Amino acid sequence: MNIDAHLLIDGQWEVGKSGLQPNIDPGTGEAVGVVTLADTAQVQAALESAHRASSTWGMQPGQARGAILKKASALLADRIQEVAKGLVQESGKTQADAISELRRTIETLAWNGEEASRISGKVHQGLVVGSARLSVPTPLGVVIAITPWNFPAVVIGRKLGAALAAGCTVVLKASEFTPYTARAIVQALVDAGMPDGVVNLIFGEPAAVSRQLMASSLVKAVSFTGSTSVGKQLAALAAPNLIRPIFELGGHAPVIVWKGADIENVVRVTAPAKFGSAGQSCVAPTRFLAHHSIHDALVDALVAKARTYKLGHGGEHTTTLGPVAHAGRVASFLHLVEDAVAKGAVINTGGKRLERSGFYVEPTVLSSVSRDAEILLEEPFGPVATVQSVGTIDHAIELANAGEYSFAAYVFTDSISVRDELVHRLNASNIGVNQTAFSQPDVPLGGLGNSGYGYEGGTEGVLAYMHLRLISQSPA
Ligand code: NAD
Repeated sequence: MNIDAHLLIDGQWEVGKSGLQPNIDPGTGEAVGVVTLADTAQVQAALESAHRASSTWGMQPGQARGAILKKASALLADRIQEVAKGLVQESGKTQADAISELRRTIETLAWNGEEASRISGKVHQGLVVGSARLSVPTPLGVVIAITPWNFPAVVIGRKLGAALAAGCTVVLKASEFTPYTARAIVQALVDAGMPDGVVNLIFGEPAAVSRQLMASSLVKAVSFTGSTSVGKQLAALAAPNLIRPIFELGGHAPVIVWKGADIENVVRVTAPAKFGSAGQSCVAPTRFLAHHSIHDALVDALVAKARTYKLGHGGEHTTTLGPVAHAGRVASFLHLVEDAVAKGAVINTGGKRLERSGFYVEPTVLSSVSRDAEILLEEPFGPVATVQSVGTIDHAIELANAGEYSFAAYVFTDSISVRDELVHRLNASNIGVNQTAFSQPDVPLGGLGNSGYGYEGGTEGVLAYMHLRLISQSPA
């Protein structure tokens, strides 16, 4: 299967003129295709194309924009098996994870397609007889979307779905690690009848391309999902032109498991989020904070679960845990485990890389992790869970709220008062109580503090790409 990816500029696929990069299968470490990279003239052409298309696209009735999104969603559903194969090859995900992510993408495009026809403003009473004040949602214009490799389909679905529903046009700079998935989603939009220039897809040298894009006065918003460090660089680049930022950044989710919690259920519920996509998720439950009365039982149950996973290439039917995305993720995993052990942590299971080609690390559980271990502060982005023992709610909250992130957090308890206190005191913007908490198309979700600002999802996610103009009118 050909998983090469090129640029889409003004409705035409073209080869990037600034060289190419291999597309590496994390399951083998070998190239399975190439992605070609834009030069500065191509980046500029993509911007100008999006700018030209923006007035006509923004003027279309919401129903017309929504119809294209819904058709693209249906086309992607028809192509799901083929697209999943490419997604598995370039990301290392298992077949099940790839299909599940694509289903969420299909649902997201369809939901935003429906939402396009629901966009509405308000009529406020005027201040003098016969007058009125209209609050009118208006598309912002050209949006830059920059997306990561860990959920290369659904993150693109969330950004394109909402921005296009709102009537904005987009220059999408997708991750060079997962270019085929971006190509497949954009192709579905093209085949659904998206007018030329409404979506442009580029790849390139990320820092240089972003600098060029963000320096343009044509750009009105930047929607970025990725690491906090890159988010901060983009925020600085957005400042001179006051480009509106919508940022979904890192996370490092605590999981508070209180006395009396059903341990088997905790593990059954959290394991798919911990080990799915090899743990490379911003909402992955990682820092388990167990009441001391159930600490040992939780460690044992997590270890038993971790040992059930069958590590292998995502394309093999027996695989239940795939590789991590690239060599850098393996190095980071090994460093974090080594640092934790040097500071007193116990490896209850896993902790090593697999001696085979590709980027495989074992599902890992660490206990007795010292507070200063880097793994508690830095997103491990791998199939690793840490367990710490806590005695009081104050202690649990202190550890849960340590660190720079404020995104997902989980609470497992059958006590309503414990639940209410923890939810109230957790410094987190996405809290799952006795369940995990993924992004969904119909509800807004965004990080706080170093985990981002703005929302994706729901009506609020579409309004993020719009400005409410105030029209105050009186009779002539
Ligand atoms: P990343 O920040 O390295 O890259 C994200 C995107 O930014 C890619 O397109 C990349 O090419 C580009 N980029 C990289 N360096 C850049 C630079 N200097 N200037 C401009 N652009 C640059 O992140 P990643 O490793 O691809 O993804 C993992 C990160 O994404 C994790 O931190 C994870 O928590 C976060 N994430 C957050 C959410 C959320 O909803 N909050 C969802 C998924 C992933």
